[in-house]
Amino acid sequence: MLTEALINILACPSCHHELSYDANLDQYCECKTCHTLYSIKNSIPILLKNESKPMTSNNTLEQIT
Ligand SMILES: [Zn+2]
Repeated sequence: MLTEALINILACPSCHHELSYDANLDQYCECKTCHTLYSIKNSIPILLKNESKPMTSNNTLEQIT
């Protein structure tokens, strides 16, 4: 789990907006501005574009896990 304090200081590497963390998306944090998911490994968000996954209407959580 990530703490809210940590997620609040993180920024999206693509658009530099803040990321949000949804406990329902346990292994991901989300940029709601450019609709990208970033993996969280061992409680460390992997803020790399090549580790990110685009969020689209066709791309459900089941498909990306
Ligand atoms: Zn973004």
